[in-house]
Amino acid sequence: AIDYEKVDEHTKFLIFPISVIGCGKTTTSQTLVNLFPESWGHIQNDDITGKDKSQLMKKSLELLSKKEVKCVIVDRNNHQFRERQQLFDWLDELKEDYLAYDTNIKVIGVSFAPYDKLPEIKDITMRRVINRGNNHQSIKWDELGEKKVVGIMSGFLKRYQPVSLRRSPDNMFDLMVELDFGEVDSSLTNAKQILSEIHKAYPILIPEIPKDDEIDASFRKSLDYKPTVQKRVGKSNCNQPKTPKLIKPTYISAKIESYDEIIDLARQGIANIAELSQQFEDLLTSGKFQNELHITLGHVMSSREKEGKRMWKSFCKRYTDQITKYNDRLIENTAGTSINQGKSVETTDKLKFRLKKLCWDQKIIAIVVELSGGEGGCIIDSNGDNVKELYCQNKVPHITLCKLGSDVKAVYSNVLCEKVELNEIDERVKVVKLNNAKEFAAHVYLNM
Ligand code: GDP
Ligand code: MG
Repeated sequence: AIDYEKVDEHTKFLIFPISVIGCGKTTTSQTLVNLFPESWGHIQNDDITGKDKSQLMKKSLELLSKKEVKCVIVDRNNHQFRERQQLFDWLDELKEDYLAYDTNIKVIGVSFAPYDKLPEIKDITMRRVINRGNNHQSIKWDELGEKKVVGIMSGFLKRYQPVSLRRSPDNMFDLMVELDFGEVDSSLTNAKQILSEIHKAYPILIPEIPKDDEIDASFRKSLDYKPTVQKRVGKSNCNQPKTPKLIKPTYISAKIESYDEIIDLARQGIANIAELSQQFEDLLTSGKFQNELHITLGHVMSSREKEGKRMWKSFCKRYTDQITKYNDRLIENTAGTSINQGKSVETTDKLKFRLKKLCWDQKIIAIVVELSGGEGGCIIDSNGDNVKELYCQNKVPHITLCKLGSDVKAVYSNVLCEKVELNEIDERVKVVKLNNAKEFAAHVYLNM
């Protein structure tokens, strides 16, 4: 599509790539800019580190506002309509802050990734990004590892919306250069095609195509390009898919497998108290008991208090490997898009405990337990050794058996059990000693 609208020496140009990672946007851009060092500029989204994403357009326009600068490449993937629209919106909004109101700006699109070549593009860009290694602002091979890099790249490919000139926003481009994709010297071929098509459409910008050997030399130089800016992935670069925040556990607990045995011991404990016995069976048969029994060891909420924070950190440190693995798997599955929480992750650590007493008031039925880990920490590792300095964060370790109202929160067990242990109870609270002959063991789980 060639745009015949009047163009003169005051006209300025912006180039928006449409691409996925590794197609050679930066290499091609550098090749072009090296050919016209005075009049062309190149702003990379990957160089923008602040919160304000529109800095990409602000910096581009700032550069374009210089008298000698005629064309700026706004280097970002823009692989979705939404991102292309955003560039046009920013341009609309910011243009007059940087350029005289009557400045004529032409926007040239350059499509780097033909849709029918995506499988090859995937192959070749993966290989290139492996070779690029750490030579990138944010996608660093050593830091992120293969899985994450592959995840990020696949995310782009999956979400890619190729140029569609008949619809908005792609019908707003004044010129569209549709590049092919090849393995060998693709950025050189790209640069040549861009030069030729812009020369044809806007000879005012490229009156004369540089000689082949000049373009060659410029391309060779660009292949050695090393970024100067370092950036952490996931901070504020809308070009990248958001790197999900590291998902940490919501709480850590010992999951009890001996459900029936524990219910039985509780039942035996109250066998002689007729009113409780009957109610106990009623609640049990009507499914009011907790489906899963556990002893909470730590909760992220407790990390709000100073003391709790230290212990919660120790827990997270102890289970760093499991937490990292869980997050890696999420990224692999979803390529950095949405994530499903609520899973639990088993560890090889165990908690040993004995039942102590049943506490029952109008809101909750809970069992106070005694942890038998011994001195220095309550958790046992897979060798049977004590894990030092890890303690249950709850003052009174317990199992919540049953909530007696829909608005009762499980944390209320803490209140009840503490009152019982401190003997600060009234006659509405029933406390029954339980048989503590058996020592139970339960695996520690991270609840994500
Ligand atoms: P971008 O993510 O689209 O900006 O891609 P880059 O321009 O950073 O290119 C990705 C990697 O491929 C870099 O290591 C480049 O040096 C390399 N690369 C780019 N174009 C070519 C090319 O035409 N030939 C070869 N061999 N490598 C290239
Ligand atoms: Mg780049």
